[in-house]
Amino acid sequence: MSSVFDDLVGQEHIIDILKGAVAASRTGSDSQEMTHAWVFTGPPGSGRSSAAVAFAQALICPNQGCGACNECQSAATGGHPDVEVICTEGLSIKVEEIRELLTRVAWAPSMGGWRVVVMEDADRLTESAANALLKAIEEPGTRTIWLLCAPTLHDVLPTIRSRCRHLQLRTPSIEAVTQVLIKRDNVSPIMADFAARVSQGHIGRAKYLATNESVRSNRKVIMQLPLQLGSLAAAFQAAQTLVDIATSEAHTSSKERDEKEVEKLQEAYGKGATGRGMATGAAKAVKELEKEQRSRVTRMVRDSIDGALLDLATLYRDVMMVQSGATESMINSDMRAEIENFASSFPPHSAVQKITAVMEARNQLAMNAAPLVACEALMCELARR
Ligand SMILES: [Zn+2]
Repeated sequence: MSSVFDDLVGQEHIIDILKGAVAASRTGSDSQEMTHAWVFTGPPGSGRSSAAVAFAQALICPNQGCGACNECQSAATGGHPDVEVICTEGLSIKVEEIRELLTRVAWAPSMGGWRVVVMEDADRLTESAANALLKAIEEPGTRTIWLLCAPTLHDVLPTIRSRCRHLQLRTPSIEAVTQVLIKRDNVSPIMADFAARVSQGHIGRAKYLATNESVRSNRKVIMQLPLQLGSLAAAFQAAQTLVDIATSEAHTSSKERDEKEVEKLQEAYGKGATGRGMATGAAKAVKELEKEQRSRVTRMVRDSIDGALLDLATLYRDVMMVQSGATESMINSDMRAEIENFASSFPPHSAVQKITAVMEARNQLAMNAAPLVACEALMCELARR
């Protein structure tokens, strides 16, 4: 029988634990054996939120996570009254949001089983938000299960993580990601292999790349940038190109979603209603929503630049591989000739410094540096010989 856990690629080590917990959650009305708070950690793309959502599905499904029943399907699409998935659009989760969430989940589960809250970015909780959440987690005898996701355990406040059971996801192997793309997403084997390799085990990114022609051509442009840094002017141009591409990618993928959200909101207020109060209420809510959407695009641009920087780091990593004669483990084997040529003109040890510079730029961005400025500084550094 198929199960919601089938899609968790390369995570066999935690699937048994999750299945055991689901089984324990069914034994009688006593919930002693069931841990109420869990933390899923793992590198980006390892699928920590997918794992948490699968667990949520299994907890509320009458067949322990069949993936096919109404419960499973509505839980996955946000339509189940007892399952709430919190995705953060802004850079942080504020205490007001947690308070609002707590009033929403204060009711007993509607189906009599469990209420499950999946928090995708628990690392973005502000300290006061985390403290508010802590109180809820500590409350005894509730029927709410908290599934928090974060890159590492260090990203979660110690007070919270000490009350959670911890599950560490692994980066799936390139081979495992390739197989999923072929079987689940009907991607051709050659494309699947390419996407899995350059995405370094990041399943979401691999799928995005394998199924989007424009994303692939953008990536191609970005990967050429380090090869064209002949002058300072070229470095500034390269920074601009990188930021432009990231911005347009973020806008393309958010535009459709933004429009749908505004439409849905207007419908909720009764589109075309003529009452004056109605109109101002709707206008205010739309304004509020558009503000949230802008902050989401800002974050998506940053994420997109970060992805591009990781790609650039793999190019310098390949330069090191070529210089040490280990070409068989190249990531960007589609650029083999260009990288070999590039590597031959590169002083030894210089590639390491370039990777350090890329990682430094990522840190700067994570600390809210202006994207263009951070990229300009990086490209100037990369242009230096
Ligand atoms: Zn089910």
